Amino acid sequence: SSKIRIAIAGYGNLGRGVESALACTPDMELVAVFTRRDPAGLVLQSGGVPVHAMARIEDFVDAVDVLILCGGSKTDLPEQGPALAALFNTVDSFDTHAKVPEYFAAVDAAARGGKRVAVISVGWDPGLFSINRLYGEAVLPDGASYTFWGKGLSQGHSDALRRVPGVQGAVQYTIPSQAAIERVRSGSRPSLTTREKHTRECHVVLEAGADPSAVEQAILTMPDYFADYDTKVNFISAEALRRDHAAMPHGGFVIRSGTTGVASSQIMEFGLKLDSNPEFTSSVLVAYARAAFRLGQQGEVGARTVFDIAPGLLSPKSAAELRKELL
Ligand code: NDP
Repeated sequence: SSKIRIAIAGYGNLGRGVESALACTPDMELVAVFTRRDPAGLVLQSGGVPVHAMARIEDFVDAVDVLILCGGSKTDLPEQGPALAALFNTVDSFDTHAKVPEYFAAVDAAARGGKRVAVISVGWDPGLFSINRLYGEAVLPDGASYTFWGKGLSQGHSDALRRVPGVQGAVQYTIPSQAAIERVRSGSRPSLTTREKHTRECHVVLEAGADPSAVEQAILTMPDYFADYDTKVNFISAEALRRDHAAMPHGGFVIRSGTTGVASSQIMEFGLKLDSNPEFTSSVLVAYARAAFRLGQQGEVGARTVFDIAPGLLSPKSAAELRKELL
């Protein structure tokens, strides 16, 4: 077939998200899923494609045009990214900010060795938010950039809550301050403290016999995670946690406030309001898989970030079709 053949490496939240995103892309097809777990035990959402052991992935180099890496940034991608970029064109969502340069170098060397293209750190942040910060700073050099996150579920902060003695289960939402966003939108270019930009909302299930005020104090004073924020702690039942907090919403705003001419205030804003963070991130990965395929066809090799990918390459439309839509 003439469709772009996509495979998924790692079947968690992003893997499932890629599977559903591909259902909406007529020019691409899912051909396989690879997992480190027992393939026979893995049940896909929609099924219809084979699941293979990751250990056998080398057998499939000619059957896959782009491999979408859906492993975690912490321990999976530092290993899988370079190893798989030597064999396939890849796209991943590596998001450990401090380690991006080192990860890029490792993936770049592997991709060049294998004559493949690897697009790293794709998603919304890093990803679409990064691009919008760049646009803002390039277009309005006299200005200030602001990023607000949420309302969204923070995996790291939810994990921190679960480590507090007496806590059985918990989720944490990061909530942007509406007042701070309005000040930024007004063009006044405020300098905002950590506490002024976001608040934190915790929903906590206590273990039997745990003291709620001790748990609350431990949370409110936790350094790095909560001490620098206005934090609200709600105690809920295990049933309510399951029922009301299973989704993974997220989103936020990137705002550039700048001045041009004598005193013209110019505001650029990009926003996301996501019911499902992983499903959206996966949808971005799929669009960049199309770009990776096209770059590979043009004979390009090596690692790229979202900054290096021309927007037209993301679209299923041709450059000529897109030109007709400029206006
Ligand atoms: P998951 O924990 O759901 O999946 C990560 C890996 O763990 C999978 O590839 C899978 O590998 C394995 N796994 C999944 N479920 C199970 C299970 N039940 N038992 C054992 N192993 C399992 O992570 P997410 O998909 O939620 O996120 C992946 C990464 O995406 C995050 O680390 C984050 O860095 C990044 N991300 C980036 C964003 C951005 O905007 N750039 C936004 C959101 C996330 P295998 O099948 O091989 O076992």
